[in-house]
Amino acid sequence: MSKKRLIIVGAVAAGASAAAKARRVNEDIEIVLFESGSYMSFANCGLPYYVGGEIANRDSLFVANPDVFKKRFQIDIRLNTEVTAISTERQEVTFVNADGQGGTLGYDSLILATGTVPIIPPIEGLDGPHIFFCRTVPEVDAIMQRLSAILPHDMEGMRQIQDGPLHDMEGTGVHGLVIGGGYIGLECAEQLMHRGIHTTVIEAMPQVMGPLDPEMTQPIKMALRDSGATLILNDAVERIEQQGERSQAILRSGRRVVFDVAIIGTGVRPNVKLAQSIGVDLGKTGAIAVDAQQRTSVPGVYAAGDNSEAIFLPTNTPVNIPLAGPANKEGRIAGNNAALDLLKDTDKKEKHWLTMKGVLGTSIARVCGVVAGGTGLTEKVAKRLDISVKAAYVLGLNHAGYYPGAHLMILKVVYDPADGRLLGAQAVGQDGVDKRLDVLATAILGGMTVEDLENLDLCYAPPFGSAKDIAIMSGFITANSRRGLSEGVSPMTLFEELNSETPPVLIDVRTTREYADGHLETAINIPLDEIRERMNEIPKDQPVIIHCQTGYRSYVAQQILQNNGWTNIRNLCGGYAFASRVLSMDAV
Ligand SMILES: Cc1cc2nc3c(=O)[nH]c(=O)nc-3n(C[C@H](O)[C@H](O)[C@H](O)COP(=O)(O)OP(=O)(O)OC[C@H]3O[C@@H](n4cnc5c(N)ncnc54)[C@H](O)[C@@H]3O)c2cc1C
Repeated sequence: MSKKRLIIVGAVAAGASAAAKARRVNEDIEIVLFESGSYMSFANCGLPYYVGGEIANRDSLFVANPDVFKKRFQIDIRLNTEVTAISTERQEVTFVNADGQGGTLGYDSLILATGTVPIIPPIEGLDGPHIFFCRTVPEVDAIMQRLSAILPHDMEGMRQIQDGPLHDMEGTGVHGLVIGGGYIGLECAEQLMHRGIHTTVIEAMPQVMGPLDPEMTQPIKMALRDSGATLILNDAVERIEQQGERSQAILRSGRRVVFDVAIIGTGVRPNVKLAQSIGVDLGKTGAIAVDAQQRTSVPGVYAAGDNSEAIFLPTNTPVNIPLAGPANKEGRIAGNNAALDLLKDTDKKEKHWLTMKGVLGTSIARVCGVVAGGTGLTEKVAKRLDISVKAAYVLGLNHAGYYPGAHLMILKVVYDPADGRLLGAQAVGQDGVDKRLDVLATAILGGMTVEDLENLDLCYAPPFGSAKDIAIMSGFITANSRRGLSEGVSPMTLFEELNSETPPVLIDVRTTREYADGHLETAINIPLDEIRERMNEIPKDQPVIIHCQTGYRSYVAQQILQNNGWTNIRNLCGGYAFASRVLSMDAV
């Protein structure tokens, strides 16, 4: 009797994971993996770092070796072969390879792991010679070829990668353009600058890193500027003209940017062409609708990875967030379940169906030495969905201040004010941003509340953290707010209120020296250690907002005042350090 066959379309994160898992589950099926590109399971997340030379060896981009994969897992891998059609009636796929040779192949189970296609911005002249995508190995090879032509070094000598700040590096006189200020666009910008290329980033939205709340992206903007990049927000490229060896982008605003190399990072959309052709249901996001076992609406057809939806845990609604972690997990689940479907009746193996619980969109990027990322719900998405949330900010150090190399980190947590459930977190800083985001992503997955954050028991020694870690501090602040002990206010609300007809009284409890070095307009300076003697200067019958440098001293002052009868005092989250950064938001 011939073996049953599982066909998988797409052989990168989801497809390759599905194939390997399917084989671990079922030895008795044929597994055929079709990939229209030339490489399977390559490290697309590593491509920007190869462009910049941080990943020096091209071979390290290939995560799985097709020969090993074939031998170890007995998987028939067909590279450079596109699946062009599917017949669910005959249960077969039609394929064609790069030489134009094709055929059909029957399946018993099918997994669509077709990923995404790039969103092509409507720019006249986009097909010009100096413009590239950075999504596949051949695309990156083309970028490298261009760099070797325009940089004044041979590829070996091309810009040594240094650990120091980027702005210490001399420029090459070569200009780069990145269209799109999302995670990938910014990673590419950083890497072009690693090569000594002066880079301009153009983003149509008013902020970079769209998934984050705008105020959390401010340090990224500052880092880009400090590294010598030009960032243009609220503008878009309309036309590109070639000018001899260089090109010129003409923006909606009329601005012109001359460049030698451009990378497009304007996002992706799910690749659902095949799915649609066989009547697979799409969800509201435009991606393939799947159940928790990765099954589509068409029997025997699974989908996994960037082409499909997943449940966003904070809201329990379907989303399509293209990220490698979920793609790998979904692939593993689809491979497991599809292989179980094909298990022989005579095989007494216990069937462990796997399910996908959901996603949080946990993501991170490093841009010019600054690291930023987020997990779960943001305030702006909550607002769009009309979900009532509260947010708090903590400014703290990544590890003990007395241990060398401590850096300031800004952490924002978003939670449900009704039950205290943690819904989201964002962080920006340097070392340790990843650790806090991962801790908080785990807390969200576990359904923890902000009161639980107070009880986190995290590892601590001076090089790694603080006894009162910033993640735990976020629990103190938010839980204190929920207990009615300390009401906080965000810098954005402060500025709104200061501009209103009845502005609050603003008290700065930092030292006179700190105040003299810079303060918020209208702030009255009453240093914390003078607060008991000077209480009478603070009105009881008007709203008061109190602040210090990062929020702790003003919290102490707030408690002293509340214990002495003040009822209308709010503490500025993140203090002057954060507010002054937010104030300079449009300065780039
Ligand atoms: C430059 C870059 C950096 C990234 N950085 C990160 C990061 O730091 N962190 C992170 O989490 N994610 C990152 N991502 C996203 C991550 O790479 C994707 O989420 C992940 O690769 C999705 O895997 P997938 O298998 O669903 O889709 P893909 O990786 O897109 O693979 C789908 C494959 O299917 C093939 N295919 C499609 N249709 C057919 C067909 N009809 N026949 C045959 N083959 C077909 C395509 O050729 C493609 O190779 C990055 C992506 C890029 C491009």
